[in-house]
This record gives sequence, structure tokens and C-alpha cells, in this order.
Amino acid sequence: MRAPQSVRCGATFPPPVMSPHPPSPSPPDYAVIIIGAGPVGLLLGCLLGAQGVRVLILEKRTEPLPYSMAIGITPPSLQILAKLELAEPFINLGVKVRDCFLHGQSGYLGRVSFREIASEYRYVLALPQTETVSLLLRKIAEYPSVTIRTGGELTTAQQDQDRVEASFTIHSEADEQRVTAHYLVACDGSRSRVRDLMKVRAVGQAYERHFVMGDFVDDSGLGDEAHLFFTAEGAVESFPLPNGKRRWIVQTSEHLDEAPAGLIRELVQSRAGFSLRDQDQISQSGFTPRRLNCDRYHDGRMILCGDAAHVMSPIGGQGMNTGFADAEFLAKALLSMLRKGLAPEPLLAAYDRYRHEAAQSAIRRAGWGMWIGTWRGKTLSALRDLMLRLACKGCLSHRVGAFYAMLTIPYNTLESVPLAEFNEGTVKGASRGNGLQFLGD
Ligand SMILES: Cc1cc2nc3c(=O)[nH]c(=O)nc-3n(C[C@H](O)[C@H](O)[C@H](O)COP(=O)(O)OP(=O)(O)OC[C@H]3O[C@@H](n4cnc5c(N)ncnc54)[C@H](O)[C@@H]3O)c2cc1C
Repeated sequence: MRAPQSVRCGATFPPPVMSPHPPSPSPPDYAVIIIGAGPVGLLLGCLLGAQGVRVLILEKRTEPLPYSMAIGITPPSLQILAKLELAEPFINLGVKVRDCFLHGQSGYLGRVSFREIASEYRYVLALPQTETVSLLLRKIAEYPSVTIRTGGELTTAQQDQDRVEASFTIHSEADEQRVTAHYLVACDGSRSRVRDLMKVRAVGQAYERHFVMGDFVDDSGLGDEAHLFFTAEGAVESFPLPNGKRRWIVQTSEHLDEAPAGLIRELVQSRAGFSLRDQDQISQSGFTPRRLNCDRYHDGRMILCGDAAHVMSPIGGQGMNTGFADAEFLAKALLSMLRKGLAPEPLLAAYDRYRHEAAQSAIRRAGWGMWIGTWRGKTLSALRDLMLRLACKGCLSHRVGAFYAMLTIPYNTLESVPLAEFNEGTVKGASRGNGLQFLGD
């Protein structure tokens, strides 16, 4: 057994290191081990690090992902980031998307506006996931109680009543290493190894919808607005990105790992009427959305968070934001257990129940949005045009804005958990005292 070496981090992952210490008889003890330094694991690490909690983050990659999946950061996520004094740096780098314009077979349908939503952030921030990860890595470097080990892949984890023991391999070293902690949180993404070890049932499936997305140098003149084009031949989505770039997503008939060069340009031209240039294309990738939700989010001291717990269609863009809300909820619960000595079971039961429900709601919404947006053929397109025209009218339009900004997801924040219900012990094992202290944190 070897003690993992403390590694401080910068905006990229620190390099994998050889442990200089001889094997130690007693493994180091962390309060929390987080598996995975994706956006959700890093945010959780920041929220705990800001309170001085001793955290080890274990990440199998040696460099962050070079490409961006998530680009939309919703107002509730900005509120979480603000608690870490991160909202401003994020906003300074991102693009404020205040309006999303909808176009159909019959022409312009209307606008979903975030300008009047009930939030201090009246926009969705467009920022590539690479930048989000980079900002979180920079922030986490400010917290001396947080250590990141990269190039280290979790192999097994087991727990007893008091602690969890995790074994992992460091790519550059032969021996398996072990660490212990009070809690282990799996932020290891949609193909979570920890979820398998926990034997948690994950119910999910792929949608029969396919897309190719690409980032381009932006010459469209569409500015800071998002535009969605719903046509009888398939959908096109277009979102602004910082630094004069724009993301285009086109619906395709089949999954294309390697889409032919020029495909996005051709489909954008024929469906949306915009002329893109091949030489302006920066990236391209195909994806087939999936949905997945676990029937429980914890087993004893091992807890699932982010994509490890739930996956939703990225069309509608809410996976990372849902994971951010999980992280905030869980950080508060962990602090209540670690600092106030509150019993874990009611707190984790609340996390299980309410975050499962929140994710289920986000999964359903993303699925519906994608389903309607991808109807093909003239009849269904005409029906969709009618529905979207109505949705963009009058008071409905404000509701749609709040809906897409994720303000209406239930239990999106801890504050929205029904206090009375919690105190009355509806959450299995919750006691009155626990509930009040937990929520009054
Ligand atoms: C095309 C696309 C567009 C999207 N757009 C949006 C959007 O606009 N808004 C939004 O909210 N969401 C969006 N999403 C979803 C978003 O990308 C995910 O929800 C988000 O990445 C989840 O973050 P995570 O930290 O939970 O998991 P991940 O980002 O998957 O990170 C998991 C980390 O764990 C590490 N890991 C895995 N296994 C191990 C192991 N055994 N040991 C150690 N480390 C391990 C991985 O290397 C990785 O770094 C999009 C997704 C796609 C595919």
C-alpha cells in the first residue's frame, strides 16, 4: 500500500507522479474521495474544499477532454457558481444567450426569451465544457484540503460501517494503491465503474435519434442568439460560442461516428439557408442521445452524482446542469454529516429521493423537446409549427423561458426541498432535528 502523493493543480491536470514514499502501513484517510474530475466532480470538490474538507479526487485521464460537450450553463448553475465567487469569471468568458428563435416549415415561429425569467441571471450562458473544467480546476487549486491524482483509475471499492476503501492503479506504476475515506462519491460519468461495483440498477436506453455537431468560426450574423430550425427533413440547432465561434447541430438519419466532410455545411444550407464554409469548421462529432436513471443514488457510504447517476438527451442541454445541482445538494448533505455529525441515512435518503425526481423531470423534458423537434415529414411539421407558435405567444412564452432555463425543475436546489415533508420524516429515517439543521445550514 502506498500513500498517494499530494498534487496541487493548475488549469490543466497535473502530470501523473511516481510516489516517492515507501509503502505505508496505514492508508491516508480522507473525508471524501471523488472518482472523476469531470465538471461535476470538480464542482463538488470546490464546494467541499471551500469548507476545508479533506478531499481526494481521482481521475483516470492525464489531460482534460480536449473537446466540448456541454455549452449551456443555466441560471441555477450560475447561482451555485456565485457561491464560490465563480459566476463572474464564467460570465466574463461566456456569451449571454437571452433569446432563442424558433423557425419551422412555415417560417419564423416565435421566440423563447430568458429576459424576464425570475432570476438575477436572465440568460443561459454559452461556454464550452473545456472552459468550465479549466475554471473549476483553477478554483480548486485555491483549496489546500483538496488533492487531485490523475492517471489513476479506480479498480475496486468496498465499505464497512465507518469507511470506504478504494483501490486504484496509477498508469505509470505497477502496484495497486489503496485509500480510505468516510464517503466515496462517483462522478465518473455515464459508464460509471463505481455504479457497477455498487450493483445499482441503471434503467436506460438510446433514443432512435441521431445528430452530428460541429463548431465553426462564426460568419452567420446571428450574434448572441440561439436559433432552432425545425424542418420536414430534420432539425438544425445553432448556438453562439465565445471568441467568434458557433455550434451547429444537425439531425441525421443514422448514427455517424465519422460523418462525411461537408455534411453539416450541406444540411445547414438546405434546412436553414445559412452558408457555412468548410475551412471555418473546427470540430465535428456524431452522437446518439441516451437516457438513463439509477433506481437509487447511494449504497451506504458510496454515492452517485452527475452522469454516473443519470444521463439525458443533450438536445435541450441539461445534463451537466443537473449534475451541478446534485453536487450542491450533496455537498450540503456531506457537510452536515461530516461537520455536524448528523446521521447519514436520512440525508442520503433525501438526496436519493429528491435528486432522482429532479433528474427524472429533466430527462423527461429533454426527451419531449427532442422528440417534438425531430418530427419529420410535412404533416407532423405543420402540427409542430402550430404548437410552437402557440407556445411562443403571450404568457406561455415566459413559462417556456423559465422551463428551458431549468427554473421549474423540482428540487433543483436544496432550498426547494419541502421542509415540512422532510421534518415529518417522510424521507425514510429523517428526524425532525436532522431536517431542520440540514436545511438551515
Ligand atoms: C454532445 C453533447 C452536448 C451536451 N451539451 C450539454 C449542455 O449544453 N448543457 C449541459 O448541462 N449538459 C450537456 N451535455 C451533458 C454533459 O456533457 C454531461 O452531463 C457532463 O459531462 C457530465 O459531467 P460528469 O462530471 O458527471 O461526467 P463526465 O464529464 O463524464 O466526467 C467523468 C470523469 O470521470 C473520469 N473517470 C471515469 N471512470 C473513471 C475511473 N474508473 N477512475 C477514475 N476516473 C474515472 C473520466 O475520465 C472523466 O474525466 C452534453 C453532452 C453531449 C454528449
